[in-house]
Amino acid sequence: MSAGPSAARGNILLVGVGGQGVVLASAIVADVALRSGADVKQSEVHGMSQRGGMVSSHLRYGPAVASPLIEAGQADVVVATEWNEGLRALPYLRPGAPLVVNLHRVVPPGACRDRLAGRFGYPPLAVDALAREVGDVRACDALAIARRVGSPRALNSVLLGVLATLLPFPDAAWRAALAAHVPRGSAPANERAFEAGRALRWPEETWAQAAAAGPAPNGNEGLARGVPARLAVTEAWCKGRACGICVRACPERCLALDARDRLVVVRPEACTGCRLCELLCPDFAIAVQDACVEAR
Ligand code: SF4
Ligand code: SF4
Repeated sequence: MSAGPSAARGNILLVGVGGQGVVLASAIVADVALRSGADVKQSEVHGMSQRGGMVSSHLRYGPAVASPLIEAGQADVVVATEWNEGLRALPYLRPGAPLVVNLHRVVPPGACRDRLAGRFGYPPLAVDALAREVGDVRACDALAIARRVGSPRALNSVLLGVLATLLPFPDAAWRAALAAHVPRGSAPANERAFEAGRALRWPEETWAQAAAAGPAPNGNEGLARGVPARLAVTEAWCKGRACGICVRACPERCLALDARDRLVVVRPEACTGCRLCELLCPDFAIAVQDACVEAR
């Protein structure tokens, strides 16, 4: 039996990295609680979010809430849109309380140990070990699920769907809050993502997805076979010079922003397919495609 939030009051900690919609997800949960008649206090830290840094939001609801901050060991549920941020937030979790965590990994450049071998100093996806420590782990590949239902940017809605199964709020409040906060054009994809998250069953689907996700975040298949990778850039999602993470992070200096602030591949022949740019882009604007997969 999970030690999750009660109908009367709850402490919810949402964590992730910039661009994953943590702040939006927190606003939606706060709206749901308000629509359900609760008092709500919320606090956010997102100073480095535009650079792919960590983002967190403390949210507390109840009949009357004095302070927004959750103390260590007092979170009734932690929702993490990124695997490592979920691990980092574990000290906040109340013993036995559920951890809702995305299996997607955003690997910081400082974690690169050997880019040619694709080795990274980053925690493995050890879901079963985590479950032994935490008890109630609801881990899923929210990014893959969101892609499947229409938009990778709706990964936060997948996790909100999981969270909805743990909170006492009515379905109508969730639907109204989702409609009020997500951009109108992406509302259908977010609704589908929410439903997909709510329909997940635990733990079987969780662990099967973790196994399918594989042991290491970065391969460099293209380099290994001597065939350059291809990059697909979704221009509408790229923040250009306001971000520029991929341009600075590319070890081979393949990327640049042109005079119109569009991301361009200036040295395609040098691209090793290391996928750092894809993994670091906080807006999912880059997809690295291994050219030799098509050639098989
Ligand atoms: S494609 Fe590059 S510049 Fe554009 S948002 Fe992603 S990391 Fe930033
Ligand atoms: S463009 Fe991306 S995949 Fe290619 S070398 Fe640079 S970071 Fe790696």
